[in-house]
Amino acid sequence: MLPSIADAIAPDHTSPQETLRRVFGYNDFRPRQAEIIANVLHRRDTLVIMPTGGGKSLCYQLPALLLDGLTVVVSPLIALMQDQVGQLRQLGVAAVCLNSSLSAADYLATVKKVRQGEVKLLYVAPETLLRSELLMLLEQCRLTLLAIDEAHCISQWGHDFRPEYRQLVEVRQRFPQAVCLALTATATPRVQADIKASLGFRDENEFITSFDRPNLFVAVTPKVHTLRQTLAFLTAHAGQSGIIYCNTQRQVDELSAALVEHDIACLPYHAGLDSATRRRNQTAFLRDNTPVMVATIAFGMGIDKPDVRFVLHVDLPKDIESYYQQIGRAGRDGLRADCLLLYSYGDVQTIRYFISQGAASEQAERTQRLQTLVRWAEGDACRRRALLTYFGETDIADVCQMCDNCLAGAQERVDLTVPAQKFLSCVARTRELFGANHIIQVLRGSQAKEVLQRGHHQLSTYGIGQEFSVEQWKHLARQFIQQGLLTQDMQYGSLKLTEKARAVFKGEPVWGTVAAATISAAVAAPAGYEAALFERLRAHRKALADAQGAPPYMIFSDVTLQEMVIYLPHSKAAFALLQGVGQQKLARYADEFLPLIAAYCREHGLSERTKTVTDGPRRLRAGKARSEEVGDAFVAGQSIADLMEAHSVKRPTIISHLGKYAQEGGTLPVERLRAESTLPAVVRDQVIAAFRNKGFDYLRPIFDAFAGDVSYDELHLLRIVARLEAT
Ligand code: ADP
Ligand code: ZN
Repeated sequence: MLPSIADAIAPDHTSPQETLRRVFGYNDFRPRQAEIIANVLHRRDTLVIMPTGGGKSLCYQLPALLLDGLTVVVSPLIALMQDQVGQLRQLGVAAVCLNSSLSAADYLATVKKVRQGEVKLLYVAPETLLRSELLMLLEQCRLTLLAIDEAHCISQWGHDFRPEYRQLVEVRQRFPQAVCLALTATATPRVQADIKASLGFRDENEFITSFDRPNLFVAVTPKVHTLRQTLAFLTAHAGQSGIIYCNTQRQVDELSAALVEHDIACLPYHAGLDSATRRRNQTAFLRDNTPVMVATIAFGMGIDKPDVRFVLHVDLPKDIESYYQQIGRAGRDGLRADCLLLYSYGDVQTIRYFISQGAASEQAERTQRLQTLVRWAEGDACRRRALLTYFGETDIADVCQMCDNCLAGAQERVDLTVPAQKFLSCVARTRELFGANHIIQVLRGSQAKEVLQRGHHQLSTYGIGQEFSVEQWKHLARQFIQQGLLTQDMQYGSLKLTEKARAVFKGEPVWGTVAAATISAAVAAPAGYEAALFERLRAHRKALADAQGAPPYMIFSDVTLQEMVIYLPHSKAAFALLQGVGQQKLARYADEFLPLIAAYCREHGLSERTKTVTDGPRRLRAGKARSEEVGDAFVAGQSIADLMEAHSVKRPTIISHLGKYAQEGGTLPVERLRAESTLPAVVRDQVIAAFRNKGFDYLRPIFDAFAGDVSYDELHLLRIVARLEAT
């Protein structure tokens, strides 16, 4: 049951920006949304190509509120329609849907509301729209905007052609005064051209946004043991909502049964289940009753759940398009989400076999698409860049730091003795019974049930590893295993110490690489993030949602809850500034959440933290940058050696942080910096003079000028000095 329709918001000719804040609770438009909306408001027929999660819905929902008359949204998926209608009603927008799932009485009541002009947005299935009585109804209304969602269904070249969609062309001709907005996430140029041609759109009214999804972390790992690897992945994502994709119904049934045996709350979904079971399982997933869905690709179309935190492929998808579409279901809310593919060459052979059994005319193309995917999975270049290149994008950075290959590539070797000692002693204190994921949870001071139940929060190693993110620790753990400090039990994954590990306790040095910090570290714990409060708010959100029979994300998204625990608002005015809090949600829910926040603050002696409207989400997420931390500490009197120890990194790393600090305008004490040089004073001054003469951009000429006697390490340090003295 959905919440009742609030009063229709009458068109009041306010600006899109103001409506964005007041109704939707957002401060800024996503890329291209503003242009698209302006185009629609100027009544130009528009085609929008945007990836999943890019924010297509807003492109018609917002104009619908600003235009007089009725907006009709055509959508092929009933679940999706209901979801959007539910979300809009939470925002106080008069939205309804008409489709085959309604009872006769509900159908008639809805039609009446539409006829009486009480509705701003009407969602319909295409076959419903084509019925003559509905077309007649629309003739009595003022149809101003016709939005066609999943517009690729119109094209025979698309992966989801629907004949009813073709007939929408006639509907359009029947209502020539209505502006038409077609939207899809399908990137193929052939399909795009087909949509434009069918609907008679002009090229200049096509808006294509980048397919980049910067918040998706993409990784591929060899498939060794599906169940064990799945369990390890789920441990790292405990309590989070996610989808596990398998290729066959049988695998879905087997894997979900095996996971349930391991106490993982999950449900299966595939076309072989009866429709009542499918619906029940889907609802349980949407409402966060069961966080994990094990599914075939039958699951996902029309699933708009914004807080899907991971997509795990235990089998190889058939091509890059399908893969990108499937991982696209993760992280719609813009927060980090993890996408992992377990890759095995055996899967490639299986898919090859199926292709050989299929239509002969399709074999060559399907084989080629599979090969492209295989090359991608086996490649060692940036994964996200490779995906985007595949979709024809060229303007992308070389390294993204949001894929496994970028994190693994080209790093300097640093002294890892201290982190190794921390990790190994945590293994010892938990009696060599646990795998890396658990050890990492303990090191990072996790509040997870498994940690608390075993009393591991009382160990001396609890919380001593906050300096690295979970991803970084995993990368470190792999190196410790490879270097023979630990062995891993093949059956249970538990880690055991070796003789070599004992030598490390006595001071034997360990060297290796540290994966670059990803935003995961920042997202997991932004500055001042109150994790315990987040759990309280989440529980309350769930209770409110259950009472309404709605999914929790309809009340507030995770982004809004995150902002609550970061800014700790105490008043309605402060609450109103949070992302996702518009007028209606403020009125309905501020009094539900404010007392919980206030109580928590009293218990912990915390007070409100100011949020200004200009605080972007990015600034919010990033804590103090490492270079800032290092620079401030140096200014405060710490030496490079102190800082190396504090951060367990090598000298060049600290010097590079100091360089960045100075470049970004920080003032460092020049004399102390100069004194850090290990060169004889004369040589040191010559190097500084050389920088003054030759410029600061290149080190090589200076290195050569001193015939290689001065290390790059020194050059980096003295360049900072020379620069500071020059300004
Ligand atoms: P799509 O239909 O393109 O897959 P949605 O329209 O479902 O994407 O939007 C994805 C998510 O982004 C939704 O949770 C939506 O509320 C959110 N969103 C859309 N526009 C904005 C914006 N301007 N600011 C913040 N969040 C937005
Ligand atoms: Zn990358």
